[in-house]
Amino acid sequence: MSVPVVIDQTPVSMKPTEYKSEVKPIWCPGCGDFGVLSSFYKALAELGIPPHNAVVVSGIGCSGRFPAFVEAYGFHGVHGRALPLATGVKLANPGLRVLVVGGDGDAFSIGAGHLPHAARRNVDLTYIVLDNEIYGLTKGQPSPTSPHGMARKASPYGSPEYPINPLLMVLSYGASFVARGFSSRPKDTVELIKQGIEHKGFSFIQVFSPCVTFYDTYDHFRQRTTDLPPDHDPTNRLLAMERAMSEDPLYLGVYFCEERPTFHDALDEVRKKAGSQ
Ligand code: SF4
Repeated sequence: MSVPVVIDQTPVSMKPTEYKSEVKPIWCPGCGDFGVLSSFYKALAELGIPPHNAVVVSGIGCSGRFPAFVEAYGFHGVHGRALPLATGVKLANPGLRVLVVGGDGDAFSIGAGHLPHAARRNVDLTYIVLDNEIYGLTKGQPSPTSPHGMARKASPYGSPEYPINPLLMVLSYGASFVARGFSSRPKDTVELIKQGIEHKGFSFIQVFSPCVTFYDTYDHFRQRTTDLPPDHDPTNRLLAMERAMSEDPLYLGVYFCEERPTFHDALDEVRKKAGSQ
């Protein structure tokens, strides 16, 4: 068995801009992903996470380029395999902060088979899904979150499929932290990312991140999004599911949060039992 390298986790004092790598984002001007990246830098800075202590893992898609833009370790993996890669990184060295980033196609179609297992195992990862409701990188095909009837160049007669509900899905899979943000609400997105990173276990954050080139949904989300009601109880999974089903308004904030042993804690228990026999 490999011995994890001990990592100095002492918080550092860095400005958000110091988390920018030398690689400049090549997203289309106005893409929602810029807002999420900027919130991501701020969250790392506010938590004082040392770059040597963070690993950004992604799959394929416009948002999959994320690791290249962050001053930290990174792994741009193959399509849909960000979660198993990230799980491997975390298990190899639990001292690392493992941050997973991807789009709706990578998360809910190609990689959909991995999501329930990361959630039910409560692997200590933060998974940020930049949801633009379309396949942007491959020029605008309907994705698993595209609305029924969405007519674009690649679906001129309207998408015949109905969308999945990502929050409902991960809540039913047993995710221990579930939240939703919007790239146009950067301060709130910073807070959600910080809370997700600090949560011990699998944190899932869906961020609406419009694709201005193939499906500009800024107005749609501006008109429909609102904060979760002040009386929302984030310890109530059923209430979280009920509010996740609302399509108008689309609620933003922390839907659900519970503390329970992580996958690593559970494996330690197994190791102890195995060692005591
Ligand atoms: Fe963003 Fe869409 Fe351009 Fe991709 S194609 S960079 S998602 S605006």
